[in-house]
Amino acid sequence: MNLSIPSEDERKKLLDAVDTVFKHGMLVLGPEVEELETKIASFCGRKFGIGVNSGTDALFLGLKSLGIGPGDEVITTSLSWIATANAIALTGAIPIFADVQDDLNIDAQSVERLITDNTKALLPVHFNGKVCEMDELTAIAEKHNLKLIEDAAQAFSARYKDRLAGSFGDIACFSMNPMKIFAGLGEAGMILTDSVEIKDRLLSLRYAGTVDREICVEPGYNSRLDTIQAAMLLKRFGRLDKLIKKRREIANIYNKKLHDFALTPVNSESDGHVYYAYTIIADDRDSLKEFLESEGIETKIRHPVLMPQQPAYKENARGEFSNAERVVAKILSLPIGEHLDRDDIDFVCSSISDFYQKYSN
Ligand SMILES: *Cc1c(COP(=O)(O)O)cnc(C)c1O
Repeated sequence: MNLSIPSEDERKKLLDAVDTVFKHGMLVLGPEVEELETKIASFCGRKFGIGVNSGTDALFLGLKSLGIGPGDEVITTSLSWIATANAIALTGAIPIFADVQDDLNIDAQSVERLITDNTKALLPVHFNGKVCEMDELTAIAEKHNLKLIEDAAQAFSARYKDRLAGSFGDIACFSMNPMKIFAGLGEAGMILTDSVEIKDRLLSLRYAGTVDREICVEPGYNSRLDTIQAAMLLKRFGRLDKLIKKRREIANIYNKKLHDFALTPVNSESDGHVYYAYTIIADDRDSLKEFLESEGIETKIRHPVLMPQQPAYKENARGEFSNAERVVAKILSLPIGEHLDRDDIDFVCSSISDFYQKYSN
């Protein structure tokens, strides 16, 4: 993971965007914020976008805007960045942790088993940039009259049967932090919805619970998306296609060369995966990681601790996560991104092949 910007052209574009904001001076909720909100909403086929401080705030405020709070249960996955569970817990609701499939996304059957009278919402995460089984999850939400919130933080521009991540459910949440696919140069988040009521409540919640910028109608937060971030994100929107294409090309090479050694992500040409991370499920994972490190190859376990097993949650964690426990001991994310060329990828593949042929028992 390298967040520097080697391209002079790219740096100049971003600096120009910042300069424009400096000149007009509307640093708070300037015109670029609304432009970005409209752009992302229409890209995903949604009516409204609401820019906020971070992906975490998008989830937290999104849940609040749907009326989720103390006493409610929200079913989410066991394997995600901890911000997902935190957003639920911070509303006062109880996160319920469902199991994952071998593609590392939430298991819809597990979700259905965990529904109780207190369940109010489902919060699936499109983990690693692969959209969840949204047909099944949408059907479950409708059948049990539950709100559906997409955590699409890792999946900007990912597709599921020709529909984009962010186009499902009552609301969808994105993060544009510097590590994500659609990356800003600092913290940023976005909520999408088709409901005027939810949109209005979110506009208020992100601005101290006010309407007309002065009258406070409920205790709110300060979570406005910075104009400077919005301006830079608008510039970066145009490079997404190329960046995702490159990730898919790398993933295709990995899939072809590694499937004899490890479980690789399911993939086909029509697959909508954007490969925020390329994660294999590998035997002897810790030795493999160590070996690759000795070869100068950086890998990452994303994430080594399941959300229900984090110190903040483990005492009262409810749910089911036996397959998640099995796979979390085997997951390993390999290098992927614009900065890698064909030789780099071939070297990763041959190193993994060497490991399994020579060193692993
Ligand atoms: C990054 C991320 C978040 C939180 O986004 P921030 O912008 O870092 O607050 C939430 N959920 C998932 C799945 C993420 O990857």
